[in-house]
Amino acid sequence: MLMNDLERKVEALLDSQKRDWKLARENYASLSNVQTRYFRDNDRTTVLQFNPERIRSSAAKIDKASLQARPCFFCHRPEEQKGVVYDDAFEILVNPYPIFEDHLTVPLRRHERQQIRPYFRKMLDIASELPGYALFYNGPRCGASAPAHMHFQAGRRSDFPFVRDWLSFPKQIIRETERTGFYVTAGHIPACFIFESRDREEAKAVFDLLYDRLPVKPGDYEPMMNVLAWKEEGVWVTGVFPRRELRPSCYYAEGEANILISPATVEMAGLFVVPLEKDFEKVTFADLETIWKEVSITEEEKNALVRKIKEEA
Ligand SMILES: [Zn+2]
Repeated sequence: MLMNDLERKVEALLDSQKRDWKLARENYASLSNVQTRYFRDNDRTTVLQFNPERIRSSAAKIDKASLQARPCFFCHRPEEQKGVVYDDAFEILVNPYPIFEDHLTVPLRRHERQQIRPYFRKMLDIASELPGYALFYNGPRCGASAPAHMHFQAGRRSDFPFVRDWLSFPKQIIRETERTGFYVTAGHIPACFIFESRDREEAKAVFDLLYDRLPVKPGDYEPMMNVLAWKEEGVWVTGVFPRRELRPSCYYAEGEANILISPATVEMAGLFVVPLEKDFEKVTFADLETIWKEVSITEEEKNALVRKIKEEA
């Protein structure tokens, strides 16, 4: 396969960081022995990954005081961490605490809070230039471990169950034009708005249409959401998972009922990461469905949104 300039640079970055940076070398090496479980239901396969290194992320405190107490890890990087500059505005880095074989972080090159609206177009551009990857965005209260510093992440498209399975999900059409389709999952959790387009500006217009109609909680500055986007055969596909909770009730439960899962885009897209062995062994698919249900918008909220979008569009 012919690689473009950016792909070649990112390939070389992954190779050199996994070789020369001790932390990355060790964590990518242990990733190759992680255990996985698979849950098959009607139209998809959901994956459970036991990954002890991710305890930092799953149990991360993101309240104001905790955030202020630790330096931003995008602005203060270890000397060994190298990057590839993208379009002056962003930089592509190797994530030293990987979930995937090739796990990238893509921070903005200045310290600015996590917010997607001004950067969604850029997300599509990067997805276009890294066609093997799916880009993802965790909202400031939806799994981002650095909510104070704008960033995307990326992993190989094939590593996301959602990318493989979304075509067979039951969906309702919100709107279809010659170049763009806008859908929402029907009778399926988690609720997800999906749009595909050959045209970047049309994709951006659909994103804004949805974004502007999602509720913003008191004290927040953007609607709670996770976003996944990739490009495939000239078509951008975007999945938006509106959220209502940062963490499910099992995260806070005591004793046997406790499951340490803190959902972000990766979980919404069908790959659950558990840092604790006790959870890896006991979790059932029903537990995962409960988690999706608790952190997603409700069926009623979803239907109300669809009505609103159809009326105004
Ligand atoms: Zn920063």
